[in-house]
Amino acid sequence: MPKDVLTFKRGGVHPKDQKHFSNNKKLETLPIPSLLVVSLSQHLGAPAKPLKKVGDSVKKGEKIGTASSFISAEVHSPVSGVIKKIIKQPLANSVVADAFLIEVDKDAEEVVFEKVDYSKKSDEELLNTIKDLGIVGLGGATFPSHVKFMIPKGKFVEYLVINGVECEPYLTSDHRTMLERSEEVLEGIMIAQRVTKAKNVIIGIEENKMDAVEKLRSIIKEKNYPIKVQPLKMRYPQGDEKQLLKATINREIPSGKLPLDIGAVVANIGTCFAIYEACAYNKPLIDRVVCISGECINEPKNLIVPIGTPIKELIDYCGGFKEEPDKIISGGAMMGFAFSSLDIPVVKGTSGVISIKEENKAIETACISCGKCVEVCPIGLMPTMLYRNIKNGNYQTALDKYSLMDCKECGCCSYTCPAHIPLVHYFKTGKKLARRKK
Ligand code: SF4
Ligand code: SF4
Repeated sequence: MPKDVLTFKRGGVHPKDQKHFSNNKKLETLPIPSLLVVSLSQHLGAPAKPLKKVGDSVKKGEKIGTASSFISAEVHSPVSGVIKKIIKQPLANSVVADAFLIEVDKDAEEVVFEKVDYSKKSDEELLNTIKDLGIVGLGGATFPSHVKFMIPKGKFVEYLVINGVECEPYLTSDHRTMLERSEEVLEGIMIAQRVTKAKNVIIGIEENKMDAVEKLRSIIKEKNYPIKVQPLKMRYPQGDEKQLLKATINREIPSGKLPLDIGAVVANIGTCFAIYEACAYNKPLIDRVVCISGECINEPKNLIVPIGTPIKELIDYCGGFKEEPDKIISGGAMMGFAFSSLDIPVVKGTSGVISIKEENKAIETACISCGKCVEVCPIGLMPTMLYRNIKNGNYQTALDKYSLMDCKECGCCSYTCPAHIPLVHYFKTGKKLARRKK
């Protein structure tokens, strides 16, 4: 490994990156569909409270849901139109929440977000803009950004680490954003730096995106931004905060602690682009880049999509399927959720729609105690013991002795297991049942 290419130390796997389907496909804007389904629960935390009722007209960018607790986020209409219904809408992650069914008014006057000079705004005003315009983490976690950037008294941020890793197979939305919205992403990062008052800023990018490394470096040099771009060896799950911080700043987040406890804040590339659009144009988070990829899709693409678009619209726009997929996944192939229906809409956290054939439909057999799952666990857990205890109903032992709650559900153990045991599935179920028992 060249000296200036870093990575994390413990565990991890090297799945085929499968980026070739879409990494050279330029960003395209999806035409506005006629109906959108905008969920009030598109972020981590409490669902937003509805501000509109059936029959109300809404304008593109208008607030239609407001944060209902400290950890929650505002929701805006991606289009101008009329609210036809409020329905219970299941999402890819199985959450069922109220959603507005919005019929698009194709004749409505176009809403243009004008450029504003945000340089005179105070840091507090910028933070309020990020809150008011509904920005959440777009890497998948959807944690409200204003909460993450609200640094409590007595804490300070030594490192703002920007996640440009995109280590999940197939996904290329952040890669294309770094290449095609480079200046905007860097400006968004500088806003995040101002708001968090971070002393150092590092962007971590895996080696399969060296074109993005070079592009960002050249703009950083030209603009004299105090930002370092750090190439990282390709390795999954390097996009997880724990592994990313180990790789970039060589610090470990202790069990049960947050990045801020070790002086760091992590933000994703797509989030920084959304922060730029919010601060420089007063544009709420009403669309995002979604990577449509996989072996089964006719024309893989990286699309700019209005939030609330049913995924069947994306699949149709990409020419439909060339063969029937075994699975359509929201997000990456390792940690994503299988879509149960093509009517499920894009939410703020939808980074990809991946249609795949399962190469190896192998049957689960008994554990052979090979220890491979232990070798690859990036957290240092013992997946084999977690599995045995959960299978036997010993949830308390899994929690207390084998730290079940520290499992990041990265799937490295399941990926490696020669007995094809769906370990991560057991851990997800085990966590749910343990919580219920409590
Ligand atoms: S899913 Fe959990 S137990 Fe398995 S490798 Fe990842 S963190 Fe470790
Ligand atoms: S990798 Fe699979 S077979 Fe090997 S010890 Fe772990 S659970 Fe058992």
